[in-house]
Amino acid sequence: MPPRTTLPADVSSTSFARALGELRGVVGAAYVLAEDEQLVPYRKLMIPAAEEDHQPSGAILPASVQHVQGVLSVCNRYKIPVWPISTGRNLGYGSAAPATSGQLILDLKRMDRILEVDPVLCTALVEPGVTYQQLHDYLRDRNIALWLDFPGDGPLVGPLGNTLERGTGSTPYGDHFAECCGMEVVLADGRVLRTGMGSLPRSASWQVFKYGYGPYLDGLFTQSNFAVVTKLGLWLMPAPVAYRTLLVQYPDDQGLAKGVETARPLRLSGTIRNPCRLSNATWMLTAFMRRAELYQGSGPVPDDVILAAARQHGIAPWSLTFTLYGTPEQIAPSLDIATRAFESSGAQIVTDYHDGSQANELNLSSFSLLNWVGGGGLVWLAPVSPARGSDAVRQRDIAKSILSMHGMDYLAAPTVYGRDLHHLTAVLFDHGDPQALERARACFRDLATTFADNGYGLHRVGVDFMDEVARTYGETRRDVNRALKRALDPNGILAPGKSGIHR
Ligand SMILES: Cc1cc2nc3c(=O)[nH]c(=O)nc-3n(C[C@H](O)[C@H](O)[C@H](O)COP(=O)(O)OP(=O)(O)OC[C@H]3O[C@@H](n4cnc5c(N)ncnc54)[C@H](O)[C@@H]3O)c2cc1C
Repeated sequence: MPPRTTLPADVSSTSFARALGELRGVVGAAYVLAEDEQLVPYRKLMIPAAEEDHQPSGAILPASVQHVQGVLSVCNRYKIPVWPISTGRNLGYGSAAPATSGQLILDLKRMDRILEVDPVLCTALVEPGVTYQQLHDYLRDRNIALWLDFPGDGPLVGPLGNTLERGTGSTPYGDHFAECCGMEVVLADGRVLRTGMGSLPRSASWQVFKYGYGPYLDGLFTQSNFAVVTKLGLWLMPAPVAYRTLLVQYPDDQGLAKGVETARPLRLSGTIRNPCRLSNATWMLTAFMRRAELYQGSGPVPDDVILAAARQHGIAPWSLTFTLYGTPEQIAPSLDIATRAFESSGAQIVTDYHDGSQANELNLSSFSLLNWVGGGGLVWLAPVSPARGSDAVRQRDIAKSILSMHGMDYLAAPTVYGRDLHHLTAVLFDHGDPQALERARACFRDLATTFADNGYGLHRVGVDFMDEVARTYGETRRDVNRALKRALDPNGILAPGKSGIHR
């Protein structure tokens, strides 16, 4: 069993108790959690990491910017690190757990106000605890014709945390950082900065123009530990008059390269405006069955077994989905161009497919992925490559051979965003089985290292691999991050270890 009270490094139990007392004065006694059982939700990992390496020392739940400032002031004095979370469900990346043990979770879920929605300019301003479901309901209840773009676990999570991780979705607004505009952040010393046009007193344009004047700072507050973000501006998609989702099915393994080569020019020309997600047969099968129903042998499920089961469910070796949005008059020519392009690459097309994630329908269907193995273990891997068929095939070969070496299945959804492709891969395992957990960990390490050695870096990673992945991007980049960290957070109290950034 991991130790149950984990003190911050170099802080005595007396100092810690005193700090907790002061924090109770700031946020109220009920919102300082330090008992074992209160911390259970912050310990669940999902990823193949050791719990004892990611133990929180407590959790603080502020309800306002003033509370956040008060918490940071106490933590600076006692040199106690805090790990900010918004909805705290970073599933497959470490959930709510900190990168290193001994941090206080700064849980911002009580700050959950939708501060503004402008139906004319199609913008919103939200606090960290706002969920996609909450925003979705808000728009529906007021008949505001705006769509949301959300991740697969949309109903449970929120736009602020997801955007700070540079998360992705499935509509034309799928690059979440690209579709945000203006942040409010609390710096480690308690000062409040509004980025972009927000720094201007009485600014009228905070949510409509990103850059303001001088260096564009917003990127500094994503995947980083330079501030606590307390508000985020969002751009929302005007609900289209019509849309049409298509399923492209390739009859063999060549479909991966062909799908990428066909999707890229259609994305770059704007014929297709949303990300083109390819899925292999195993990924698609998870919606219908569990692995154990198909195969009980050791090692990965053999390809012929997968393909036979896929055929029974009408699933192709490689599938690709996308949606056309607009008026019927706009959709018709794009449908014609895209259909002809995919058909001449050897695919069959289903022109009336349904995928809620591409059409503002929140649901939890993507969780079926976790049933494949069972036992709740998941870690995501998404190496980035140029959107070329040859790169996608090379990535598949790397992933498949390493996964198979560790006895695991290849479940992949390589997605063409434009010029870039993210080879999204789910490493699934039984979290309750220590051997399976160890295998998944070793497998992930091999995958991350081999992809980086081949020039395919990871763009997002769980709390247990942040240092390793940061190292793959080189020393100069780490030095610059360190210099920024020392300038903005000299005591290093904000999320030490986030993205491999330390003081
Ligand atoms: C089935 C399934 C499907 C998924 N599909 C997708 C998908 O399609 N796209 C995708 O992107 N992800 C996906 N995920 C991964 C993940 O669950 C989501 O990205 C989720 O949105 C992240 O959790 P959150 O929004 O609760 O963020 P949080 O956990 O609140 O935040 C994430 C991290 O951001 C930082 N942070 C958060 N808030 C602040 C703040 N206020 N100030 C400073 N730093 C902060 C912290 O480091 C924190 O750990 C999926 C996971 C599962 C299990």
